[in-house]
Amino acid sequence: RSARAEDAVRRLTRWHDDFPTPGVRFADLTPVFADSAGFRAVLDCFAACAPDADLVAGVDARGFLLGAGVAATLGTGVVAVRKAGKLPPPVISREYTLEYGSAALEIPADGIDLAGRKVLLLDDVLATGGTLAAAAELFLAAGAEVVAAAVVLELGFLNGRERQGDYPVTSIVKL
Ligand code: AMP
Repeated sequence: RSARAEDAVRRLTRWHDDFPTPGVRFADLTPVFADSAGFRAVLDCFAACAPDADLVAGVDARGFLLGAGVAATLGTGVVAVRKAGKLPPPVISREYTLEYGSAALEIPADGIDLAGRKVLLLDDVLATGGTLAAAAELFLAAGAEVVAAAVVLELGFLNGRERQGDYPVTSIVKL
């Protein structure tokens, strides 16, 4: 963990109660990403999690910003893990449960050779963990290895870490 990244996240995160639904305390990381030193510190911290990664993946939508920045830092390519219906077929798809109902994440099933790739998987917030776990399953299904996952903020009381597979999960700030 980096002290500079942790400080930026603690100082700059916008918290909002009862958004997008009653009972949820939403963490908006926009000001962290908009701060040059904060964004740099977050990217460097994530790049250090998996210096051996040869591909970075970011989860729809704020994970895209992180994924692109860390990929450029490491000198790898980047894959956007999309919400269902955004990518043309064929796709690999995984459903995951939300508080109410379910959703699905997708990556292309062709066009990128994922077999044996070492993937660093990124998202902004780890809450119940279903999103990150589903994203990881997509890459495992394609024959890739998830060498690490990292998030800016972990809501530890939701135990999302327990739903993750056999890869280390780093969070810059854990609440
Ligand atoms: P989960 O699958 O429950 O771990 O939810 C994680 C996904 O939902 C991430 O992509 C987050 O961007 C978003 N999310 C869930 N809860 C929050 C929250 N309290 N604040 C901000 N984003 C959240």
